Amino acid sequence: MSFCIFCKIANHEIPGKVLYEDDLCMAFLDLSQATDGHTLVVPKSHYESFLDVNEDTLAHMIKVTQKLALMLQDKLNAKGFNIITNANEVAGQSVKHFHIHIIPRYEEHEGFSPQYTDRSKDVNLDEIYNKIMK
Ligand code: 5GP
Ligand code: ZN
Repeated sequence: MSFCIFCKIANHEIPGKVLYEDDLCMAFLDLSQATDGHTLVVPKSHYESFLDVNEDTLAHMIKVTQKLALMLQDKLNAKGFNIITNANEVAGQSVKHFHIHIIPRYEEHEGFSPQYTDRSKDVNLDEIYNKIMK
């Protein structure tokens, strides 16, 4: 018995609208459907987030993600995609089993819109760069 909701779906203990499955990962429709075809790609083994997932599994999943995006482009006539993963609560992760969101886009401002604030006037780029590189 699994305790995590995505482990349960990956182990077929509870149903999901599965679009793809292999030994390492599974893709199924996100319940929220931010846009039509909003899909989650999850590893079959439990990893908390992007930060601890096994690197071979991650490399495989990103290839699967590309294949699925191309399929959704073809089947749903998507015009673009946001491919995102939230790591940890502060970044909006609510399910603690690593997953990649595939969010098809049909028009601007529909269902999902990533907001990047332009802080360039308020920050010291050299200071930030030096903190990272020193
Ligand atoms: P996060 O916020 O962790 O990046 O994304 C979690 C996603 O999982 C949300 O978009 C939410 O709609 C989806 N989700 C949560 N529980 C379930 C579930 O039981 N089934 C499916 N298909 N999606 C779920
Ligand atoms: Zn899990």
